[in-house]
Amino acid sequence: MNSYEVLDVDPNTNFDIIKKTYQKLILKYHPDKLQQSGIKSQEIIEENNRKFQEIQKAWDNISTPQKKIQYDKELLAKSFKQDGVINEEIDLDDMEYDEEEEAYYSECRCGGIYKITVEDLENNINVVSCDVCSLKIKVLYEVIEDEIEE
Ligand SMILES: [Zn+2]
Repeated sequence: MNSYEVLDVDPNTNFDIIKKTYQKLILKYHPDKLQQSGIKSQEIIEENNRKFQEIQKAWDNISTPQKKIQYDKELLAKSFKQDGVINEEIDLDDMEYDEEEEAYYSECRCGGIYKITVEDLENNINVVSCDVCSLKIKVLYEVIEDEIEE
């Protein structure tokens, strides 16, 4: 699990909110709190301490905005290596259209290019790969309908 999964927060959430979430969790799982509650079960204590350490470790990766930027880069680099994963969904309207090529373009986070041709669209293809890395996007577009728009 990555740090965001451990803390159960959205990576794009405001840093202060992530910090508050961490603080809440670390209080919740603090060994002192367990001691105060009088719980003697070794199993529960071990599980709690494991969770406590996991939260601390997760937070350590992203505990300052600078560290978070670095960590996010590492996560992104890892995601580049995963094959066949759809990185994001992009609306066709948000892509650049090239009339000469009859294709739509979008820039990948790696600097590469996603390209989907009009022919692809006609063949109902909606997943395309970056020409540099292994990321894929899903292109969102409406199938042409005869219905009258309201
Ligand atoms: Zn790419």
